[in-house]
Amino acid sequence: MPKVTIDHDNCDGAECGECVDVCPMEILVIDGEKIKIQNVEECNECEVCVDVCPNECIEVTD
Ligand code: SF4
Ligand code: SF4
Repeated sequence: MPKVTIDHDNCDGAECGECVDVCPMEILVIDGEKIKIQNVEECNECEVCVDVCPNECIEVTD
């Protein structure tokens, strides 16, 4: 199962939300001020979230 991790210390959270906007599987969602990861088993490892993140704080691994 893929693993998606966000380094919350470097994430701009709800103020950014770029990863939330681009994820085709709706894995990344805004939860208050933070980004929450849900239904990670549906992640297709496309890595568009990684590509779009301005702070390089998302990691997708197998
Ligand atoms: S790798 Fe793709 S499917 Fe998985 S969380 Fe990132 S954008 Fe969504
Ligand atoms: S794109 Fe990066 S900085 Fe922006 S909300 Fe997502 S993880 Fe945080």
